[in-house]
Amino acid sequence: MSEKSNRQPSLVTLISQALHSLEAETGAVVPSIQPAATYARDENYEVRQPYWYRRDGSQTTAQAENIIATLEGAKESLLFSSGMSACTAVIENLPTDAHVVAPKVMYHGVLQQIQNYAANRRITVSYYDAGDMQSLADAVKACDPHLVWVETPNNPNWEVTDIAKAAEIAHTAGAKLITDCTGTPPSMTKALDLGADISFHSATKYLNGHSDVTAGVLSVNDTGKTWDDIATIRKLQGTVLHSFDAWLLIRGMRTLFLRVEKCSANAMAIAKHFEGHRHIETVMYPGLASHPGHDIANRQTNGQFGGMLSILVKGSEQTAIDVARFCELFYPATSLGGVESLIEHRKTVSGEGFPVHPRLLRLSIGIEDADDLIYDLEQALARAME
Ligand SMILES: *Cc1c(COP(=O)(O)O)cnc(C)c1O
Repeated sequence: MSEKSNRQPSLVTLISQALHSLEAETGAVVPSIQPAATYARDENYEVRQPYWYRRDGSQTTAQAENIIATLEGAKESLLFSSGMSACTAVIENLPTDAHVVAPKVMYHGVLQQIQNYAANRRITVSYYDAGDMQSLADAVKACDPHLVWVETPNNPNWEVTDIAKAAEIAHTAGAKLITDCTGTPPSMTKALDLGADISFHSATKYLNGHSDVTAGVLSVNDTGKTWDDIATIRKLQGTVLHSFDAWLLIRGMRTLFLRVEKCSANAMAIAKHFEGHRHIETVMYPGLASHPGHDIANRQTNGQFGGMLSILVKGSEQTAIDVARFCELFYPATSLGGVESLIEHRKTVSGEGFPVHPRLLRLSIGIEDADDLIYDLEQALARAME
């Protein structure tokens, strides 16, 4: 008999088999789910390791975390019950009076949370223009930051920030860098390899991919005191991901590479079709050669550009709302990263006071047939322009 091969499988193989999680006892090819909220002590009345109560996590949550850590090339990952609870744990853990440098425009929930902490005098904040490295460098130089927050590609205009350069700027000033690359999941962008100290993703989006879970994840290579403190916040606030949701997330992640490839190809076809279109003023998509962040995105996103793009419709704000209303295949819903395509008038969703163009429509492109999606937008545009 010949020996077993010792070939190391690629990341694509590892993830599609959920880290080869064949069950030893039964041979089941699907990982099992462990929903217990509490665990019995052993015969010596000692707490069994590693779990004793579900706020600390469960086997199922840990399995999902292992898959994400493998994708990220991270030492450890922690899963939360939403992206917002993961971001909030990071903000909550900042020392009093810590200074944060954040983009002026970014995902509205995170920005609002940073501003809430600042309004309560817990932290101070200064802002930079997303995607503008000089603006980031100036903002960092003007203060003594504890944390630099980068979202790339950046909601809802899809500016691209050079993560390696941002890390250099943050580290030179003695600050840590957190990246939110929710728009380009870790099958595309490896933020820790590029120099981020904490990589955050809303796993509600591409990681899960089916719009049926909310989850957030933090990943690091440095598992020192800060990391332990963040894990303690998760435990004491009770914001660990539920086992059933972790199981759905594991199932979703098995098709991550396939889904992201298809979403990216569809988004590219749609962006190219509508660039220069008579009813469209601008297409904002880093995959277009005309996009100012195209070259950095090309390096940072593994030659794919993801499924997120925005369009500025000609006409009025009402024209843009009408396009979203008249779509028949795109769902007029918020969120992103699912297999189904969504269209959203972002100003309506972000609320008054948030700087977003009134004629901007944000599209999350799914895995449907690209020609069907193009046809749908064409007919909605034609009706809205009548
Ligand atoms: C959705 C999202 C979040 C928040 O995550 P939730 O899972 O909705 O709590 C944060 N950042 C970005 C870029 C997002 O798209």
